[in-house]
Amino acid sequence: MAVADVLRADTLGRPVRDLRISVTDRCQFRCTYCMPREVFGRDFAFLPREELLTFEELARLARIFAGLGVRKLRLTGGEPLLRRDLEGLVAMLAAIDGIADIALTTNGALLAGKAMALAAAGLRRVTVSLDSLDDAVFMALNDAGFPAGRVLEAIAAAAGAGLTPVKVNMVVRRGVNEQSILPMAAHFRGSGHVLRFIEYMDVGTTNGWRLDDVVTAAEIISLIGGQWPIEPVAAAYPGEVATRYRYRDGAGEIGVIASVTQPFCRGCTRARLSADGMLYTCLFAAAGHDLRGPLRGGASDQALREQIAVIWARRTDRYSEQRTRHTRPQQGRAKVEMSRIGG
Ligand code: SAM
Repeated sequence: MAVADVLRADTLGRPVRDLRISVTDRCQFRCTYCMPREVFGRDFAFLPREELLTFEELARLARIFAGLGVRKLRLTGGEPLLRRDLEGLVAMLAAIDGIADIALTTNGALLAGKAMALAAAGLRRVTVSLDSLDDAVFMALNDAGFPAGRVLEAIAAAAGAGLTPVKVNMVVRRGVNEQSILPMAAHFRGSGHVLRFIEYMDVGTTNGWRLDDVVTAAEIISLIGGQWPIEPVAAAYPGEVATRYRYRDGAGEIGVIASVTQPFCRGCTRARLSADGMLYTCLFAAAGHDLRGPLRGGASDQALREQIAVIWARRTDRYSEQRTRHTRPQQGRAKVEMSRIGG
C-alpha cells in the first residue's frame, strides 16, 4: 500500500479536511494588526508574479489534497480579490471531485463588482472582514482610508449573489475597537448575516500570547448577552472554529473565535498553502514546506501526494495551546505570516 494511503492523520490523530489557499501576498489595506504600514511600506518586497502559483498549479495541488481527504477550500491572502480573474480559479476548484465547499475571506473592497461572477463560478460562501461601523475607528484600523459603508455594500452584494449566510469577521482589540462591539451586533442582528468576533492575536516578542490587548470571547459574550439574551448553539461540525450563540428572540446567530483564550488546536484539520507554494501545517508554524519546487521540477501527482501525506503525518503543531500555557521569551512571527497565509 502506498504511504499516502495509510498516513492520513497527523501525530495527534487529526485528518486533513480543509485547505486555505493564499492566492496573493498583497493587500490594499494596511490593517495595523495584520500588515502594518511600518513593515509593509513602499519598500516592502512583495512576491514577483512568477513566484506565485498559477491557477493551474493551485488546482492541481487542490486535487491532490482532495485525494487526501480535503473537503473544504478557502481562498484568502493578502487580499484574494486582488488576484485577477479569481472566478476562473474558483471554477477550476469547483470541478474537483470531493470538494464540497469553496469559501473566500476578503476585506470586501472589490467584492461588490465580483460577487455574481464568483457565485456563478461555484463559490459557496464568503467571509467579509469589518472591524467597526465607525469610520474614524475603521479607517484608523485599515490605514487605507477605506470607509465602512463600502464594506456594507459589498456584504449586501454578496448576499444578493446568494453567497449566504455572509459571515462578518470583526477582530476586537482592546482600547481600539471594543466600543464597536455592540453597534456591530445591533447592526447585524436580524440581517441574516453572521457576525463573528475574533480575539486579537499578538505574540509580540514573547513566546506567550500577550493578553493586554485581547478582549476575551467571554467578555464579548457577556457584553452582548447583557443587551440581548443569547444561548449557545451546538457546533455544526467537529473542529468548528467559532463557538456559536443565537439570540433568544430569533434575531439570528453570532460566533466568537477564541484563538487566544480557548485554543482549538486539538480539532484543527487545516492545512495552509502560501501564495508561493509553501505548505504550512499551522498558522504559526515555524517553517513551511516547499511544494512549488517539486511541482515545477516535474514531480508526478503521486510523488506530490506522498510528500504531502508525509508532511501531514508528521504534524505535531499546537501552537496556540502551548502559547496559552507558556511565556518564555522568544521571537514571535505571527504578524508577518498572517498576511502570507491568510489568518
Ligand atoms: N484580506 C482578507 C481579509 O481582510 O479578510 C483575507 C486575509 S486576512 C489575513 C484574514 C482574516 O485574518 C481577517 O478577518 C483578519 O481580520 C484576520 N486577522 C488578521 N490579523 C489578525 C490578528 N492579529 N488577530 C486576529 N485576526 C487577525
